Amino acid sequence: MHGPIESTQSFADATPMMAQYLSVKQKHGDGLLFYRMGDFYELFFDDAVKASATLGIALTKRGKHLNEDIPMCGVPVHAAEHYLQKLIRAGHRVAICEQLEDPAEAKKRGSKSVVKRDVVRLVTPGTLTEETLLDATSRNHLAALSFSGTGEASLAFADISTGELAVIETSRATLSADLARINPTELLLPDRLLDDVSFQWDDAIALSPLPQSRFDSANGEARIKAQFQVGALDAFGSFRRADISALGALLDYIHLTQVGQVPFLRPPRLEQRSHGLVIDAATRANLELSRTMQGDRKGSLLDCITRTVTSSGARLLGDFLARPLADVTTINARLDCVSYWHRDDRLNLLLRDHLRQVPDLERALARLSGNRGGPRDLASLRDGLQKSLELHDLLQTQNTLTLMPQRLAELNAALQCAPRTLVATLKLALSEDLPLLARDGDFIAFGYNAELDEARALSKDTREVIAELQNDYAERSGIKTLKIKHNNILGYFIEVTAQQAPILQAADTDKIFIHRQTIANAMRFTTLKLSDLEQKISAAGGKALAIETDHFQKFCAMVSAELLNISNVAQSLAELDVFTSLANLALEQRYSRPVIDDSLRFEIEDGRHPVVEASLTQKGDRAFSPNSVSLNGGEKQLWLLTGPNMAGKSTFLRQNALITILAQIGSFVPAAKAHIGIVDRVFSRVGAADDLARGRSTFMVEMVETAAILNQATQRSLVILDEIGRGTSTFDGLSIAWATLEHLHDVNKSRALFATHYHELTALERNLKHVACATMKVREYKGDIVFLHEVVPGAADRSYGIQVAKLAGLPANVTQRAGDVLRKLEDHRAKQSTLALVDDLPLFSERMKPTEAAENPVLEAITNLLPDQLSPREALEFLYQLKKLSETKSK
Ligand code: ATP
Repeated sequence: MHGPIESTQSFADATPMMAQYLSVKQKHGDGLLFYRMGDFYELFFDDAVKASATLGIALTKRGKHLNEDIPMCGVPVHAAEHYLQKLIRAGHRVAICEQLEDPAEAKKRGSKSVVKRDVVRLVTPGTLTEETLLDATSRNHLAALSFSGTGEASLAFADISTGELAVIETSRATLSADLARINPTELLLPDRLLDDVSFQWDDAIALSPLPQSRFDSANGEARIKAQFQVGALDAFGSFRRADISALGALLDYIHLTQVGQVPFLRPPRLEQRSHGLVIDAATRANLELSRTMQGDRKGSLLDCITRTVTSSGARLLGDFLARPLADVTTINARLDCVSYWHRDDRLNLLLRDHLRQVPDLERALARLSGNRGGPRDLASLRDGLQKSLELHDLLQTQNTLTLMPQRLAELNAALQCAPRTLVATLKLALSEDLPLLARDGDFIAFGYNAELDEARALSKDTREVIAELQNDYAERSGIKTLKIKHNNILGYFIEVTAQQAPILQAADTDKIFIHRQTIANAMRFTTLKLSDLEQKISAAGGKALAIETDHFQKFCAMVSAELLNISNVAQSLAELDVFTSLANLALEQRYSRPVIDDSLRFEIEDGRHPVVEASLTQKGDRAFSPNSVSLNGGEKQLWLLTGPNMAGKSTFLRQNALITILAQIGSFVPAAKAHIGIVDRVFSRVGAADDLARGRSTFMVEMVETAAILNQATQRSLVILDEIGRGTSTFDGLSIAWATLEHLHDVNKSRALFATHYHELTALERNLKHVACATMKVREYKGDIVFLHEVVPGAADRSYGIQVAKLAGLPANVTQRAGDVLRKLEDHRAKQSTLALVDDLPLFSERMKPTEAAENPVLEAITNLLPDQLSPREALEFLYQLKKLSETKSK
């Protein structure tokens, strides 16, 4: 097999074209090189071998290099996106090398000269903008991770298909939660981190290691200033060094992959960690927020609550759910917007009808600004911006009737910034049926440009003359089936069958038919008149296309002058879509507006699980039984829930976490009433899953997740724990569950729901003043069990495991035998009372204090330090930082 192309020496033996290929390949070594040759992208050498295997296409050869056959495969240009998609999904990167001039130009330089070619773009998973390569309803994030020598870390992320750019502070401890939230398809990181075993990378993220020099913050600052044409970054926020270095590396990579044609990016947004509700990766996965455990969108909370009618609205709702808020004012401002549309069903429907007609402005804008757009993208802008102006008028009238909340008024104000001249121009200029690419022509409407109309008429008239000519030749030769056809190689030609050819030649007394080509069953001719007409058509067609391309460039320039305005309009439309869709959801599913404040309350009256309820409704099964909960901080803030399998414990636990998350994105919630004091973090340890890929058993995963909760949950957190300690022996498990419950109660003091099979734990209610016991109500009927799915105060008297096993179809002799064994075991245990055990064990808080590291930020900073990577100045800064931390701690 051919190895990578390493030396220029091999160029000497190459044909001029192969020499060009090798030199381009050498410059853009990583990834497969799509080398444009006419209507195909060709791949050579190892690239061809890899691509043909991934794409399942034929591997051929073309010529020789260094006396060996050159492997080759190719894909047609018109179907290239389909192949690109397959290659990118399989983890490849692709460099697209285009012809930069007309082959006719090259020929003028001599018959052996090679068409100029160069790479115009590197296609990587995180830098896609093509509609066919992207999911319309989700973001495609490219992220960059930077660690400074002092342990500061930042994650910058962009979606170049929508112009989003942001940066957030991160740390070793929070990195996996941050990555789970941002969900990048590609991550840029310093190459040294790849060898650092303390990092574990998600297989779904394509990692792009870069040398540390690419994360230099001075270069980064220059890059950001140049991108946004500002002299200082202060206008965008107060960035730390790690923020700048991550943003710089990100922008640098975008420049590199887009070969200078960077699509529009909004100025960087600095996200404040403290403003968001933190959800770690395990909790996000357990609660199936945007994907189910199986990785599907269907069945997730996001899928269940999506009522948006535009793609950008769907993406924004995904963003909301990925990052719920933790700030009372902003949440209530969002809720006010939802309430506004919730009050007026008629208006809500009207608005949604308008929004439904809004195309994907963000992605059309990204393509046009990245020089990759076409006439259809212009039409999207025309229609979207026009709708924006219409919506503005509608909302303006509405505002005079019922005063809008402030955020809606701001969105409405942004709508009228849609550039009217651009809309008017595009309305006049674009024809109805539009091609994908400008170079296909025929997108300017008749009547827009006189010169263009003239050129088109000429070409049309000439075509009619050709039709007449066909009749004439058919008559003259007596061959009724004679046809004038066209292809790209011969142009226009006369075609007759092989049998008819002698008839044609015999009838040709004036010798006007000139033989061009003989193919299997036909013969092709031309005439001087036909070639003449052909030249006229081609000249007129060329002129028409030149006029159209020129106009396309002018329209793109008009778009460029309005980038920020159009982007603002697009964002406002997306936000309106989200608010009206949440109102629609609330009306349709009977959700109610939660009360959100700074208290430590958690009171849900008749709460429901949105996804389970929807699935019961869909199946036409029984109705969902609503359940209430009250976990007010300082009162009975920890509920211990017992009850048999299948009784609905997990559903109850999850529904309360989901209600919290919905409330904190600014949505109404599936409950009759909800009062939630802001939650800073939601933790859930629900269900069991092996993580065999990382070599962790079910029990290990359970313990790692429980450890994370006990180390991080605060009084403001909401903790959901399901069946802690089940993965080990009964006594081990019970002891772990016991100690975990005590720690949550005494140290974390979080609002928490703790479901368990260990009924022994319910005895703790006596000693732990903030614990209340609740159980799932069941009814026994003739030895069978009926689940009522109702949460009531008290403790379950037993597990009913054998009844559930019976329901599951275990053979009757097995369940009978199990019943006998159970009675024996219970007799035996009756002699050892748990209540006595509770009295024997001193309370947790008297025995244990939180660990030193968790309490000591100075120690934590030192643990995170990478001394070998500190500059002298950074070392000094670190000392000051330590001093500051120690002062804060001693206050
Ligand atoms: P296990 O301990 O085996 O996981 P569980 O007690 O956690 O069981 P769930 O998984 O929550 O039980 O619920 C089992 C099924 O019961 C659900 O799939 C759902 O169909 C139904 N269910 C749960 N809660 C309710 C409810 N409140 N109303 C109606 N049906 C419910």
